[in-house]
Amino acid sequence: MPKLLGATGNFEMVVFGLLTIVVLHRARDGLWPILLRVFAIVAPQRQQMREVEPALPLPRRDAPAPGSEVLKVIDVTKRFGGLVANNKMNLTVRAGEVMALIGPNGAGKSTLFNCISGVNPATEGEIRFMGKRIDQLGSREIAKQGMSRSFQHVRLNQDMTVLENAAIGAHLRGRKNFVQSAWRLDREEERRLLWEAAHQLQRCGLGEHLFDTCGSLPLGKQRIVEIARALCSDPTLLLLDEPAAGLRHLEKRALAELLAKLRGEGMAILLVEHDMDFVMGLADRVLVMEFGEYLAEGLPQEIQTNPKVLEAYLGGVDE
Ligand code: ADP
Ligand code: MG
Repeated sequence: MPKLLGATGNFEMVVFGLLTIVVLHRARDGLWPILLRVFAIVAPQRQQMREVEPALPLPRRDAPAPGSEVLKVIDVTKRFGGLVANNKMNLTVRAGEVMALIGPNGAGKSTLFNCISGVNPATEGEIRFMGKRIDQLGSREIAKQGMSRSFQHVRLNQDMTVLENAAIGAHLRGRKNFVQSAWRLDREEERRLLWEAAHQLQRCGLGEHLFDTCGSLPLGKQRIVEIARALCSDPTLLLLDEPAAGLRHLEKRALAELLAKLRGEGMAILLVEHDMDFVMGLADRVLVMEFGEYLAEGLPQEIQTNPKVLEAYLGGVDE
């Protein structure tokens, strides 16, 4: 350029600057997606996924006997400094039942979920899962033992496909380490994990969305992707934090049908939910919390007519 223009100067900066502007305009996600589009590398892989069944599917956990105790929470207390978010909470969940945890905002439901799943461990008390104490274990170890959860707000990678998002839930069932995966010695295992994810998505009725990006799905389906992801770890207990929040009527119905189906297959489900109709139509038993404390427990009909609950949760009987 100096020869062309007959002047000296820092042309490198100018050229790089222009290139940067072009990239920011034309390739915001970088150059790789463009290359993929040009060479259509993705298409054959997807095709392969549909056709190739792994030689050995992933091994399954033994299911507990229907009606047997899966989770037992004994006198669990959680303090945040001076605030007692959970005060001596007790609850039991059995295989093949949906237990609902309800209560006003700030009652401590999500906190209890975090204690149970090891995300934010309890200050005091005992938690037993499948007969073993888990309150000293980390969330990863608890998940490995067969407890799987979703969060109050959807946590999916919006740019990845539904299949990839769900497969993340199966990663604890993989055995290969990062060195092996760096050398791509994990292809068979990856295929098994993806196959499992596809199977769980089909089980949840999302079979036709495997290769859609999560961001392109409506909220109701994203919630179901989260449940499929939770199922990928082959759990015995599902913890779902407000799975029906923000869903439309038909989406709620689809979700309720799915959960009822899973219950029928012997899954133990613990559910936090705000929508009373949803809870009352689905749950086998309901536990009510208020200000971090136990308020009532019983069958949905009993809870619906319990004056204490009506007062606390619905804001008084005569309102
Ligand atoms: P819920 O899910 O029933 O609406 P939460 O369990 O989220 O209620 O919260 C219960 C109480 O604990 C609230 O008063 C909340 O502000 C408090 N809390 C929750 N998490 C924390 C935290 N990490 N640190 C301090 N306080 C918290
Ligand atoms: Mg909450």
